[in-house]
Amino acid sequence: MAADHVDVLIVGAGLSGIGAAVHLGRECPGKTYAVLEARGAIGGTWDLFRYPGIRSDSDMYTLGYSFKPWTDPKAIADGDSIRAYVRQTAREYDVERHIRFHHRALRAEWDSATARWTVHAHRDDTGEDVTLTCGLLFTNSGYYRYDEGYTPRFPGVERYAGTLVHPQHWPGDLDYAGKRVVVIGSGATAVTVVPAMAERAAHVTMLQRSPTYVIALPSRDRFADAARRRLPPKAAYAVARWKNVTLGVANFQLSRRAPGVVKRFLRRAAKGRLPSGYDVDRHFSPRYDPWDQRLCVVPDGDLFAALSAGRASVVTDTIDTFTEHGIRLASGEELPADVVVTATGLNLLALGGMTLTVDGAEVDLASTVAYKGMMLSGVPNFAMTIGYTNASWTLKADLVATYVCRLLRHLDDTGRQIVTPLAPDTDDLEPIIDLKSGYVLRAVDQLPKQGPHAPWRLHQNYPRDVRLMRHGPLTDGVRFDRAGVPATAATTSGGTDA
Ligand SMILES: Cc1cc2nc3c(=O)[nH]c(=O)nc-3n(C[C@H](O)[C@H](O)[C@H](O)COP(=O)(O)OP(=O)(O)OC[C@H]3O[C@@H](n4cnc5c(N)ncnc54)[C@H](O)[C@@H]3O)c2cc1C
Repeated sequence: MAADHVDVLIVGAGLSGIGAAVHLGRECPGKTYAVLEARGAIGGTWDLFRYPGIRSDSDMYTLGYSFKPWTDPKAIADGDSIRAYVRQTAREYDVERHIRFHHRALRAEWDSATARWTVHAHRDDTGEDVTLTCGLLFTNSGYYRYDEGYTPRFPGVERYAGTLVHPQHWPGDLDYAGKRVVVIGSGATAVTVVPAMAERAAHVTMLQRSPTYVIALPSRDRFADAARRRLPPKAAYAVARWKNVTLGVANFQLSRRAPGVVKRFLRRAAKGRLPSGYDVDRHFSPRYDPWDQRLCVVPDGDLFAALSAGRASVVTDTIDTFTEHGIRLASGEELPADVVVTATGLNLLALGGMTLTVDGAEVDLASTVAYKGMMLSGVPNFAMTIGYTNASWTLKADLVATYVCRLLRHLDDTGRQIVTPLAPDTDDLEPIIDLKSGYVLRAVDQLPKQGPHAPWRLHQNYPRDVRLMRHGPLTDGVRFDRAGVPATAATTSGGTDA
């Protein structure tokens, strides 16, 4: 039996995959598409994570889609509201009927002769193996493993008699009221879960090996509120979005150019929210520069409020061993704990774990170079969404989807079927993600690279990318071909439009 065929196959029905489908429906209405989703629900991250307090840490005017105004007054929103927004988008734009749930894409094989991908998926509800073909493969599979969060090996953990929880697999029935809780970690999840659990726990200790930059921001955006009162929803959203984009770019540039100034500002801001005499340098002054790792946002300073009220505390130390009743630290101090939350991070995973072949040859991701941060050198008719690391993910996701639609229209207009990025002629390559966070460093050698200049460089700059992706040329660094030209013909750089 012939496999199902669609023009575009989207992998993933999270924030990006649903957005990609909407862009495709609006900007390329003639194209057929399907969405493969490994889970049984829409929403990805915003459906998976259910720990107390789960929320965004970027503002929703930039984490929301360009085409659908975020109208909730909360600028920093809880997981339920974001999940509802993604689902409502899928319903409103008629994406739901294109989604095939419980389909995990495993492998995709490109064939230049037919200019098609053959995609193999497995259904975890029926146990069936499914095969589809498509003209363009568009992965929107996020950036981490869904089945397993990252947990380092803790000595003595097998002795621990309390409850051990990873935030990625939160047990819905966990009752921590009146209990002593230790949260291991200092990233976005730890700073979210600590004040949320402190509302009901006897006490919550955030145990960190080293500090992170933490900044308090208002959960409501007064500028956006005022814009909403005076302007129609779309205009108010656009104004709030550009205000936040501009502030974000300015903050990032200042952090890169004058890290000392930003460090001092962040220290002073934290100090101002903590009780006098608090050891800010030990607990809130990292050794690295701002934006070497993502800044952690705490809405309305909720973490600082919990610390000031004595409901939570921070300990900066290393774990010597778990004991039966808690954790012994290198300093000799013991932290008794009924519940330990390992907010120790994610395991990065590229392309949702899919493997790719091009005309029978296996693609080694680490040897590819990312083109405009969204295609791979030597891999025809393939696009992927990887959001910004220094701004909201969706800003980039929207641009990638729009660019894919531009490419599809260009292929049709020029009577070509294949587009292949050509590797840049340089050895000056760097990791695709330039953060120094542990989860990035653990996986960076398995990921594609980036080059020294456009279109191979990720500038992590939305206004610049708007020019490049919405209005820039489509023909730089790629080759366009008719079906039948083998991908191996497309190996040299130079921006051919054959
Ligand atoms: C706790 C947490 C908080 C975050 N907060 C923010 C924030 O405030 N701001 C921000 O910009 N970013 C944030 N991020 C990053 C966040 O992941 C993105 O904002 C966004 O949700 C990513 O959307 P996505 O659709 O690309 O990926 P995901 O949300 O990860 O969705 C990917 C989807 O693809 C599916 N999938 C994966 N592999 C396959 C496969 N092989 N076959 C079929 N389906 C597959 C998954 O099941 C999932 O549904 C946060 C991340 C986490 C973990």
